[in-house]
Amino acid sequence: MTATLDSTVRERLSSTTLAWLDRLDAVQLIGGVRRVGTAAPIDLIDPGTGLVIVSVAAAGGADVDDAVRAAHTAFQDGRWSERDADEREAILRRLADLVDQHDATLVELESLDTGKPLSQAAGDIREVSAVLRYYAGWANKLDGAVIAAPRRFFAATIREPVGVCGAITPWNYPLPILAYKLAPALAFGNTFVAKPSELASLSTIFLCDLISEAGIPDGVVNIVVGAAETGEALSRHPELDKLAFTGSTRTGQAIARSAAEALTKVTLELGGKSAHIVFADSDLDAAATSVLEGIWTNAGQVCVAGSRLLVQDSIHDEFVAVLAERTTMLTVAHGLTPGADIGPLIAREQQQKVNAILDDAAERGAYLHRGADVADNGGFFLSPTIVTGVAETDTVATDELFAPVLTALPFTNESDAVRIANSSPYGLAAGVWSSDVGKIHRVARRLRAGSVWANTYGVFHPTLPFGGVKGSGYGRELGASALGQYTETKTLVLDTGVGS
Ligand code: ADP
Repeated sequence: MTATLDSTVRERLSSTTLAWLDRLDAVQLIGGVRRVGTAAPIDLIDPGTGLVIVSVAAAGGADVDDAVRAAHTAFQDGRWSERDADEREAILRRLADLVDQHDATLVELESLDTGKPLSQAAGDIREVSAVLRYYAGWANKLDGAVIAAPRRFFAATIREPVGVCGAITPWNYPLPILAYKLAPALAFGNTFVAKPSELASLSTIFLCDLISEAGIPDGVVNIVVGAAETGEALSRHPELDKLAFTGSTRTGQAIARSAAEALTKVTLELGGKSAHIVFADSDLDAAATSVLEGIWTNAGQVCVAGSRLLVQDSIHDEFVAVLAERTTMLTVAHGLTPGADIGPLIAREQQQKVNAILDDAAERGAYLHRGADVADNGGFFLSPTIVTGVAETDTVATDELFAPVLTALPFTNESDAVRIANSSPYGLAAGVWSSDVGKIHRVARRLRAGSVWANTYGVFHPTLPFGGVKGSGYGRELGASALGQYTETKTLVLDTGVGS
């Protein structure tokens, strides 16, 4: 099927990417075989033009069932779990190398599908190979412990894979978020079924082409492409041992309910409305740069977006003026446009919803500091906007908008900053800026958030555990935390026949 791309967009893509898109057809990968889904087609849309890139048949319930069964069979027969850990490590490193070799195409696909600027997509793809290499290194380091049980027994713990692991991923960072789940799952010998977002599935589909090339046996990694129904069928499946989800809080709740029936273990990384706190004694220039990156990156469609700026009242007006001035200099354009800083939102409904919230705030007295005008070319663009003059309880200050909208709120002192930051139903991340190290420690400890960045923001690395508290979910991905998520502890007891 030929991809129906806008001619300007077509010109910006390499011939390799275009050729791959033009022959995209059977996108489900089940038991090592590519097949056409049995459910109705879904349109994959370019958010920068609003046009359909390509239409693919979605995975129906039977496809999901086949995928989980293929993963189950692959787990049971030990084709992956019983491989020597050194071999699994080598294969994961090969997969990382293949990602690097194909990075030009992966970057273009990720930018086209999500709307993010090419430079940001390039960072995503580098992160994918880094996460694969990090967990490759863990494959042969799964030590257990010898336990001081009663003297008669020799007792030890060993770590084993969990089994069939599912992943339901969102559209904002499709491939890195998949890698956070896929890499540790494979390193420790699990098998896998991935369900990418229907709004951005291309890079996951492409990655699956590299899976068998890397030497991962058929059936170990399966992919079902589709929307909510496909995800629902996966989360309900009784043969799924573990499910990792990243997405909205509402969908996370639905998934936890579905998975509860079969007692499938679930980790949830959900929404956020993270506070970025700037004290008057900060390096204000560096803080301004960080605050802007923390909200304009990926057009604010980031679970850890620092979307609530809490700024000390003595510098509030001056600081916001600097931010507003710098915002006008940003280029809002199609992600494939060289020099674009901010791309479109992911969908028309999202653009309409956020515009309605902003209009409502303005009607009730908020001041909107708008950035550059946006092109009216059918894409889902929204001018980056800083909102001031609202109450802490206003929708723009409390709801996760997933848009380039920064709501600024003044605070008086440390306690006031912590109070406002913790008033959110979410608890994913927070930032603190101050030149007083003692103050940073005091505030960081009192913040209810999974990650706190001090005098920096949004630092991600394969070594750093990531996840939330409160409405932002439970469980931690990345770092050594994933050992507990993708392995089970088995206790082994041997009766030595000696002692009582
Ligand atoms: P967003 O990240 O856009 O806010 P969601 O949280 O709804 O969106 O979606 C994240 C992922 O969850 C996507 O892959 C989506 O298809 C999937 N999904 C949506 N609804 C359900 C559901 N009820 N059960 C399982 N998966 C779902």
